[in-house]
Amino acid sequence: MESGDGNKTGSRDVMCPICRSIQNHLWKKSDSSVIRPEDLAITDKRYGMTFEIRECECGFRFAPPSATDQLLELYKELDDPAYELGRESRLAQQSSLLERLRELMPASTSLLDVGAANGMLVDLAGRSGLRSVGVEPSESLAAAARMRGLDVRTGTLPMKALESEKFDLVACVDVIEHVAEPLALLHACRTQLNPNGKLLIVTPDAASFAARILGKRWWHLRLAHVGYFTPSTLAYALNLAGFEVELQWRPGWSFEIGYLAERVGSYIPGASWLADRSRQTRLMGETVPLNLFDSIAVVARLAH
Ligand SMILES: [Zn+2]
Repeated sequence: MESGDGNKTGSRDVMCPICRSIQNHLWKKSDSSVIRPEDLAITDKRYGMTFEIRECECGFRFAPPSATDQLLELYKELDDPAYELGRESRLAQQSSLLERLRELMPASTSLLDVGAANGMLVDLAGRSGLRSVGVEPSESLAAAARMRGLDVRTGTLPMKALESEKFDLVACVDVIEHVAEPLALLHACRTQLNPNGKLLIVTPDAASFAARILGKRWWHLRLAHVGYFTPSTLAYALNLAGFEVELQWRPGWSFEIGYLAERVGSYIPGASWLADRSRQTRLMGETVPLNLFDSIAVVARLAH
């Protein structure tokens, strides 16, 4: 499959973390050789800035291991005070996901949130009567959750202290695009699930209308995102990790006007002005329903 389109051989072979093929080509050049923890902030506005992104023959786009080696170390130091800004919209998002999960599995009694940030979903799940636990690599976010009395452990899966614990629901909301080895994450989620349990994955959809229209300027192209899934590559990865897809949909999020205006500021003339104005008025903090349709949510069960 040599095509002369940028495929490299020999010592520069890069293996796809999903299908393990080395048939991939450069899709987008790196924008940054030096990265700092703040470059990974959840609310980082420098969209379109990424590591080198390669595209595999299986369709998966990913940053090569050489670019992502430092990632976890940086996450441990990540402190993102601006995260609270988008709180209302995140609350609406997490509430609707939890509601969906509980409808799918009314008998569920426990939930593990992987990449729990400051524990919002852990809190909501706890209030809805579930035994809820989170794991979060950022020391400061996990500590903030514990300060509020939530069971959020600092670290990532697999975690020694959680090895013997099983859950009915495992959630990975906006997490899998951050990890260099997504199959390892899915395997780790699998070992935490009860036999009838359900796994929820939410991630940006690289095949969405917005992604295709915006190309290399899509707002989900960010340093912190090192894996870009489509519905088909996500289903493929889930199958390889021993899951089968039960349900898939495009969730609609709500955004606070100020947050949204800042987010689209670089695309739409006038949006930055609106962001500035909304900071000074009561507009900031208003939550408006808006469906960008550029994420996918998948619920998967263990394959038999
Ligand atoms: Zn591949």
